[in-house]
Amino acid sequence: MLSNLAVRDIETLVHPYTNLATHRQVGPLVIESGKGVFVTDSSGKDYIEGMAGLWCTALGFSNQELIETAYEQMKKLPFTHIFGGRSNDPAIELAEKLKEIAPVPISKVFYGASGSDANDTQVKMVWYMNNALGRPQKKKIISRLKGYHGVTVASASLTGLPNNHIDFDLPLPGILHTSCAHHYRFSEPGETELDFSSRLAAELEEMILREGPDTVAAFIAEPVMGAGGAITPPDGYFEKINVILAKYDILFIADEVITGFGRTGEMFGTTTYGLNADTISCAKQITSAYFPLSAVMMNERVYEVLVDQSRKIGTFGHGNTYAGHPVGCAIAVKTLEIYQRDKIVEHVRSVAPTFLRRLHKLAEHPLVGEARGVGLIGAVELVQDKLTRGSFEGKKGVGPKSVSFALEEGLIVRAMGDRVAFCPPMIITEAELEEMFDRYERALNKTLNWAKGEGLLAA
Ligand code: PLP
Repeated sequence: MLSNLAVRDIETLVHPYTNLATHRQVGPLVIESGKGVFVTDSSGKDYIEGMAGLWCTALGFSNQELIETAYEQMKKLPFTHIFGGRSNDPAIELAEKLKEIAPVPISKVFYGASGSDANDTQVKMVWYMNNALGRPQKKKIISRLKGYHGVTVASASLTGLPNNHIDFDLPLPGILHTSCAHHYRFSEPGETELDFSSRLAAELEEMILREGPDTVAAFIAEPVMGAGGAITPPDGYFEKINVILAKYDILFIADEVITGFGRTGEMFGTTTYGLNADTISCAKQITSAYFPLSAVMMNERVYEVLVDQSRKIGTFGHGNTYAGHPVGCAIAVKTLEIYQRDKIVEHVRSVAPTFLRRLHKLAEHPLVGEARGVGLIGAVELVQDKLTRGSFEGKKGVGPKSVSFALEEGLIVRAMGDRVAFCPPMIITEAELEEMFDRYERALNKTLNWAKGEGLLAA
C-alpha cells in the first residue's frame, strides 16, 4: 500500500536513472531527514548512507557550520552573478583556495553548477582553444568505455555507458571511447596489471595514430571510475597514458567530480594516481553537496589562449547564471576550511584500512568475484561463477536485489548492474564502517539465498 506521499510523487515526478514503468508500481523511497552519516525515511526508518548521497555529502547530513554559512550568506547577498566582469568576495576566495590546494599548477577557475556542465565547459574550451591556436582540425576527444562524465549533450557523449547513449542519438561525432581500465574484467589470462596497462596505452596510441594525432585534442579520465563501477586503475596505467598524451600534444582533462577533496586519501585523485592533468573538473564534495556548484580549473597555457581569443571575438561567450553563486561559493569556502581544519584527508587515511579490510573480506563471499577500493570508495562485483568470473544475466538484477536487501538492513548502497558501490560520507567513524559492512554482509547472505531460490546458482 503506497503512502500518500508516494502517490503524489508518482503523479508528479520523472526520476533520473529510474525505470519509470516500475516506479509507477513501487513508488519512491522518501528521505526526510539526516544526521551525521544517517538518513531517515518518511516511515521513520534509519539508514547508513553508504553512498554519501551520490558520492557527495562528504561532511554528512547535519553540518551546522555549513548550514549557518548558507544562512548568513543568504542574508547578506543571496545572489549576484559574475557575467560581464562582475564579481563577489566568496567567488574570489574560493578560486584562491582552489588554486592553493590544486594538485597541479592552476592559473584560473571557471564556475558552473554541476559536474555535467563542468565537462561541457571542458569540451567547449578544447574546441575554442584549438580554433584559437589555428588548428581547427584538432577537435576529437577520447574518453573511456564505462567512464562517467555526466548527462548533458557533450558530457553524456564523453560518458562511456550504453544507457546514456541509446536512443538519445549520442555520442556526438568526434567523441571516441578507448578501453576500460578494469583489470579484473578485461585483462587477458595471466596478464599482470602492468602488462594490462601497457596494452591499454598501446591501444590508445593506435587509436590516436589511426585518427591522426593532428585531429585528437584531448583525453578525459576519472582517476577512479565512479558510475562505471568504482573501478581503481591498474598499476602504472596513468604513468603510461601521460607519456602518450604528451607525445601527441593532447590535453589531459582529469574528471575529479567524485575523487576531488579527499575521497582517495589525497586531496585529489590526480595526486593518488599521478595524472598529468592540464585541466580539472570538480563538483560534489566541493560543497559537501550542500549547494550545486562545479569548477573547472585550468592551467596558464589554456587560460592565455582563452584571453587571446576573447580579445579577438569580443567576449568569452560561455557561462551560466549561477556561475560564482555567492551562497554556493561561501559554502564551498567553508567546506574546504573544514576539510583542512578537521584534517579530513588524514581522517580518510586513518579509517581507510578498516574500510578496505572489510571490503576485501567481502571477496570471500560466494557471490563476490572482486572487491576493490581506495581511500573511502570501493565496490564489489557480484558474479555467478567465481572461478570463471562469469556474470549473472543482467536481467536477473542480482546487484539491485542486494541493494534492496541492504535497504531492509538499514543501509543505502548503489548497484550499477552487478557492481555494488560504497562511498560513505568522509566523516564516517571506524565503528560506523564496521556496522555498514555488517549490514551489507547480511544483505549479501539474503541475496545468496534468494539467488539459490531463483535457481541462479547451484543449490
Ligand atoms: N563526472 C563524474 C566523475 C561524475 O561522477 C558525475 C556524476 O556522478 C558527473 C561528472 C556529472 O555530475 P552531475 O551529476 O553533477 O552533472
